[in-house]
Amino acid sequence: RIEDISTPRRTKEIIQRHGFSFKKSLGQNFLIDQNILHKIVEAAELDETKGALEIGPGIGALTEKLAQTAGAVTAVEIDQRLIPILKEVLEPYGNVRVHHGDVLKVDLHELFRTDFADKAKVSVVANLPYYVTTPILMKLLEEKLPLENIVIMIQKEVAERMAASPGSKDYGSLSIAVQYYSVPKLICTVPHTVFIPQPNVESAVIRLEVREEPPVSVPDEGFFFEVVQASFAQRRKTIANNLKSRFFPEKGRERLEQLLAEAEIEPSRRGETLSIEEYARLSRVLYEAGI
Ligand code: SAM
Repeated sequence: RIEDISTPRRTKEIIQRHGFSFKKSLGQNFLIDQNILHKIVEAAELDETKGALEIGPGIGALTEKLAQTAGAVTAVEIDQRLIPILKEVLEPYGNVRVHHGDVLKVDLHELFRTDFADKAKVSVVANLPYYVTTPILMKLLEEKLPLENIVIMIQKEVAERMAASPGSKDYGSLSIAVQYYSVPKLICTVPHTVFIPQPNVESAVIRLEVREEPPVSVPDEGFFFEVVQASFAQRRKTIANNLKSRFFPEKGRERLEQLLAEAEIEPSRRGETLSIEEYARLSRVLYEAGI
């Protein structure tokens, strides 16, 4: 019986035989730990009726586990050098498709139509390249793909920011963006030793349960996120000062204070204390006032 791709011995053998060298610029840190792979796959709650989209399969450590659990697996890998390796090592699995490309440029709706047409539900499962975690995640969420959940290994600090509640030091515009589209849950933190090569940062696995409807209603999503961004522009400033810099550079402070009163928000508060409901109310009042 062939060993799993992710055992340290088989991983080294594959890498050596193909003369593969890691590219730091592509965030290449491959998983070599069965336990952690098991936890990641388990968190996605897959079965053979479901599909899994993997971003950045590397040499297929996680892809193999997904192939053993989901009905269909599609993996998108940017590094051309990995494509022949993936074809070879995943050959025993008939339910895997590997695409060469940059996930940020791929038409994911089209990919879902071709690869997951007959799947009841789809998860994204990935050990993400850390240099592009946020753009990749925001693309998945903003494009409103028909996803059940997203289970990703990311930098620990970023996972903590995604899951943070109002009032905590980690709470910011990323927390609000992620929580507008999903319900985050930290699954576990991960030591450096589960990767080769080992990254310089700590990692964590997080699950985002994708919402069918946002938790608040806003008149315009773009404007809502603009208000959130503006409120966190300078963390030490009050909400009134941050909003003034962004939306009222010329106009008087009085008008702004009126609108804040209408939204029932104290001007002296800081952006990090407002809940998602309060941001929704604030953006509604500002939007209706034509700001
Ligand atoms: N899934 C493998 C594992 O866990 O062992 C590899 C994970 S490694 C952290 C990230 C992978 O994403 C690398 O294989 C890298 O080449 C790939 N990658 C980086 N940027 C990408 C992009 N924009 N689109 C698709 N894949 C990308």
